[in-house]
Amino acid sequence: MDVTVLGGGLMGTASAYFLARRGARVTLIERNRIGSGATVASFGNIRRTGRHLSQLPLAHRSLGLWGEAEKMLGRDVEFRATGHVRLIFDEASLADMRAYAEAARPCGLELEELGAREIRSRFPGLGPNAIAASFSPQDGSGNPRLIAPAFAEAARRLGAEIIDDAEVQTIGHTGSGFVVASSKGTFAAECLLNTAGAWGARIAAQFGEAVPLDARGPQMGVTEPLPYRILPVVGIWTRDKDHGAYLRQVERGNIVFGGAAERAEVDLEPGHAAADPARLPTQLRAVARLLPAIAQATVIRTWSGCEGYVRDMLPVMGRSATTSGLFHAFGFSGHGFQLGPGVGDAMAELITTGRCETPLDDFRIDRFSGAA
Ligand SMILES: Cc1cc2nc3c(=O)[nH]c(=O)nc-3n(C[C@H](O)[C@H](O)[C@H](O)COP(=O)(O)OP(=O)(O)OC[C@H]3O[C@@H](n4cnc5c(N)ncnc54)[C@H](O)[C@@H]3O)c2cc1C
Repeated sequence: MDVTVLGGGLMGTASAYFLARRGARVTLIERNRIGSGATVASFGNIRRTGRHLSQLPLAHRSLGLWGEAEKMLGRDVEFRATGHVRLIFDEASLADMRAYAEAARPCGLELEELGAREIRSRFPGLGPNAIAASFSPQDGSGNPRLIAPAFAEAARRLGAEIIDDAEVQTIGHTGSGFVVASSKGTFAAECLLNTAGAWGARIAAQFGEAVPLDARGPQMGVTEPLPYRILPVVGIWTRDKDHGAYLRQVERGNIVFGGAAERAEVDLEPGHAAADPARLPTQLRAVARLLPAIAQATVIRTWSGCEGYVRDMLPVMGRSATTSGLFHAFGFSGHGFQLGPGVGDAMAELITTGRCETPLDDFRIDRFSGAA
């Protein structure tokens, strides 16, 4: 079986790897550099807590693969299962967390509930005014700069052709498959996988499939390196988006943070999402509730990335509803980093066997038909 993969972010490279592992002949075409879209901009959170319940089977599959990533890909992609703590500052949010934990338990996610004293003893310096927290010990983080190139290299070693810096000119559909004409040649294959991230809806539209997707840029920042003290990824349960920050400290000592600020609109051409210094104070105020010591640290860089947000905040994954041999995996709505390896594995299973053991029904592309 031949498969052309369009888009070399985490979803495209992971799919190329797992497809090649299953024996498919794969050509991946990326118009920029591998991993340079939303993937490289990611905060790096490998979090299951708070995910839509229908995503949990895929998230569990993916977490297992993150755990094997170093062995599987032959390099350390800095996956660290440090745990994920989400602080709670008010009773309404505590009720939300308990309701979620109860609903998520049958889906295989066990959250520990911590009281105020336990937070202070286990995580000194975090959330002095927090009344409770959830803790998910197996979750953690990974390095967004490393993961897509690592999948691409591993796919290449299995025989996949990885072509970057290639402008796709036309995508044709013939009776027997797809012909993609690009600035680096023309590629024909039986199957086409659309993993073009925020640009994925454009490709789907060429096949008569409309997806309500907005391109937006969440904003991140990072401090100077400080002594390494904060192990888990830190977030918050809150109904107030001005408080919705998160942070983690990397082993080199820098504290990476995000959330709280509005996501900026991004023009898909050229697709560059710029950080806005005016958003930083709101963000830092929210981060300071989680970690007051941030007030003493210098922020050395801010950035953003172009991500596709689907109207219902769920990705599009699975077969095309209009075109045989076409598959989609795009629109990960700000939370695709954790899912990436699982998405690649699930798409490879679906494409090569015609079925997928992980339920993908809620992510069908035709869920929007008739509801424009
Ligand atoms: C700032 C930020 C922080 C985030 N933090 C987290 C987090 O902590 N945890 C989490 O789970 N998720 C997070 N996410 C979301 C996560 O990073 C994305 O969901 C995920 O990386 C999407 O991967 P992708 O491969 O679908 O898209 P991308 O990485 O954007 O890759 C798509 C690729 O397709 C290419 N392309 C587009 N059109 C074409 C074409 N016609 N032909 C060829 N190539 C094309 C693009 O150049 C791009 O490289 C964050 C996102 C951002 C922006």
